[in-house]
Amino acid sequence: METGKVISFETLTENVGRFNVKNKTFLIPQMNRIGGHLLAATFRGFGIRAKVMDTFKGMDLGKEYTSGKECYPCQITTGDILYFLTKEKERLGDAFDPEDYVYFMPESDGPCRFGMYNKYQRIVLDSFPELKRIRIGALTTRDGYALDGLTDEEQVSDLRKASYFSVVVADILDRLLWRIRPYEKEEGMTDAFIEEAMHRMEDVFETYGPKKDFDRILDNLEEIIEQGKQIIDPAIPPKPLIGIVGEIYVRTHVHANQDLIRMLERYGGEAVNASIAEWMNYTSYDRLRDAKIGFRLHLKQLRFGAVREYLKRMVDFWGDLFYQELRQKQVYNRVKKLIDLADDHKIGHLEKILKKDDLFTFDVGTEACLSISGIVEYAKEGFNGVVNVYPFTCMPSTTTSAIVKPLMDKLGVPYLDTPYDSGFQPGREAAIRTFMYQAHQHFKRHGRIRASQR
Ligand code: SF4
Repeated sequence: METGKVISFETLTENVGRFNVKNKTFLIPQMNRIGGHLLAATFRGFGIRAKVMDTFKGMDLGKEYTSGKECYPCQITTGDILYFLTKEKERLGDAFDPEDYVYFMPESDGPCRFGMYNKYQRIVLDSFPELKRIRIGALTTRDGYALDGLTDEEQVSDLRKASYFSVVVADILDRLLWRIRPYEKEEGMTDAFIEEAMHRMEDVFETYGPKKDFDRILDNLEEIIEQGKQIIDPAIPPKPLIGIVGEIYVRTHVHANQDLIRMLERYGGEAVNASIAEWMNYTSYDRLRDAKIGFRLHLKQLRFGAVREYLKRMVDFWGDLFYQELRQKQVYNRVKKLIDLADDHKIGHLEKILKKDDLFTFDVGTEACLSISGIVEYAKEGFNGVVNVYPFTCMPSTTTSAIVKPLMDKLGVPYLDTPYDSGFQPGREAAIRTFMYQAHQHFKRHGRIRASQR
């Protein structure tokens, strides 16, 4: 691909935003494999040509078009989109039309750099004359990832509900994988089984997502769980339980975190990663929280126009949060009758943990709110160790580490920071092995809870 020289900064507003994706190919980056695939399937059910891009194959391009100062997820996703488009151009030749694609790159409203990925990638795409017309579809945490404008208005609400449901079901499939794999009868059985289960659920979401037939979706999920349970060898005794928190992209992207969970399992652990739905719930919770603050502030100043506006926002975000938590509970209730999977943390409860010991505040925002409280919760619940996974130099995760390290020393629970970039740290495996040794010692002294008792 040839690069052009002139970059127009208007493109950052004109070609990054919310675009209708009907009749386009909607390109979804692969963060957690199952979640990406179920989300794309849900979109396809609504008539949107959604496609999950391969990931990590374009790391050379990612490195070439970043300076090394960007966050690691930005480098990976830059490589992913450039790799996809290079291959697509090779495949289609002259028939390649950049206007056929919308590349999905969400953003958050600060205070860290996630809001800049899509702007940066816009500049990179614009440096190739033939890629200037590819649009970047940006959903934002500012409105709790509302999907308005993405497709026909009458579909938006149903698409949002079905998409959220796909996120929760993907979380369950991930948890099923982590619950079964350390106890599998034969090596490799779980991975093969979950891969097949993911494809089955893709079909299920494509068919039943648009009808919002969530019961039928859960019937299929229950069948999968019943089959998955057969893989567990009952003769294998329980193992130390390890909680994982951290930056959402790297902790869920198995290439980015160099397959950390598998390594923890290799050294005798069973792991539970924080969920994706937790982040979705957090964004709705945080928007509701902001709306309440705005409401109180304007009420004090007797600015009734603004009061009305904030009241409306409060009702909207409360509705989102209520719906999400209700659906999530429905799924977990059904699933936990069949297998002892880890429950998810309620965001209101996590905020209370921070407030109680004055550890941090939701006023600052970012994943540090979830990670710090999540770590404390894991420790109190009886997990045998906690790992904080994040991109090298990640601001919220470094904050988390600074706050929880002394705390974990006091609580006597093994704790490990694992920052990742595209290099391989020679001492990483030794650090994980040492951590797992400590977790085994903790397990011997204190035993462990089953995740279902949380
Ligand atoms: S959370 Fe970390 S990795 Fe993500 S944008 Fe912020 S600083 Fe970068």
